[in-house]
Amino acid sequence: MPSITHLIRPDIADLEPYTPIVPLDVLATRLGLPVEQIVKLDANENPYGPSPQALAALAAEPHYAIYPDPEHAALRAALSNYTGQPVERIVCGAGADEIIDLLLRLLLQPGDTVIDCPPTFGMYAFDTAVCGGRAIEVPRRTDFSLDLDMIEQVATTTSARAIFLASPNNPSGHLTPRAEIERLLQLPLLVVVDEAYIEFADYAGQDYGVSGLVGQYANLAVLRTFSKWAGLAGLRIGYGLLPENLAEHIWKIKQPYNVNLAAQVAAQASLADRDYLRTNIGKIIAERERMSAALHALPFLHVYASHANFLLCRVTDGDAARIKQTLEQQGVLVRYYRKAGLRDCIRVSIGTPQQNDTLLKALQDIDRGR
Ligand SMILES: *Cc1c(COP(=O)(O)O)cnc(C)c1O
Repeated sequence: MPSITHLIRPDIADLEPYTPIVPLDVLATRLGLPVEQIVKLDANENPYGPSPQALAALAAEPHYAIYPDPEHAALRAALSNYTGQPVERIVCGAGADEIIDLLLRLLLQPGDTVIDCPPTFGMYAFDTAVCGGRAIEVPRRTDFSLDLDMIEQVATTTSARAIFLASPNNPSGHLTPRAEIERLLQLPLLVVVDEAYIEFADYAGQDYGVSGLVGQYANLAVLRTFSKWAGLAGLRIGYGLLPENLAEHIWKIKQPYNVNLAAQVAAQASLADRDYLRTNIGKIIAERERMSAALHALPFLHVYASHANFLLCRVTDGDAARIKQTLEQQGVLVRYYRKAGLRDCIRVSIGTPQQNDTLLKALQDIDRGR
């Protein structure tokens, strides 16, 4: 059969293939364990699952045969109440991931650049490449704070179109102070602050979350999601808080039915049941603090302070890849990165107290390959 690869965009043909995650049931079969025995602490999912009200609303929804509202008006009204931002500044997507993709499609022409600050969430560089752009890396410092001077230098010498900042950052858990973001907002590019984990951050002093600044700065966009705090990762629902004159153009390129009806129904019910979900957030934060101390007490781990629902641990004595593999054999899944700067680290999501104890026990007994 003749090949048609010459018809494919050459920049896409040259991209590295994406390594997909193995579905849980496939992995369970491979390990010879029942699915219920797998302790899944590798993807920052919510161990308590969705709100029971969200599950009830999903079961009761009568209109799955009808296309969903392309403007997700009811959900945006509820999000306006939740975030304090007007509906004109809210756009929903199939996860925050879709908003990242939409923003880059709006901004990038082939060869345009974006500033990325690794180690961080991989989708910024991934979507930049898919859109024909190029990510310029300004690595974080050893404590995972931003190198503001270097970012300013790169921004003023390269005509980068945007910078992506996760705060709290994944995988480090580091929170960027509001003053630093306000400094970056002086630059001539779009500043995208990804607040996927902001509901887990302790910022009583109000110095951190920046959703309230959207609209005050023409170049600030904030990303949020229901995947982590509301336990809806499998339904794919996130949103962007965007200045009106950016949102206006996103509406032109968004697929009309990007957010399915089940996701809209579950997200609205979650917002209505947020006191319940906040109780779970409280449990996760308490467990994060307990686990941070317990992991730190192990002689071979250094644990970084985290404002999210996971902890990044540096293996100071032993082999991180081997620890990940050994845990997996026992049905305990954690995240390992084959990436510069993270090769000696594992990231563990915060589970239920029982799941966390299973992880601790496994780590206490582990042969760490010294
Ligand atoms: C998990 C995660 C997301 C993805 O959110 P979805 O709404 O599930 O697409 C976005 N940003 C960061 C930093 C994340 O860790």
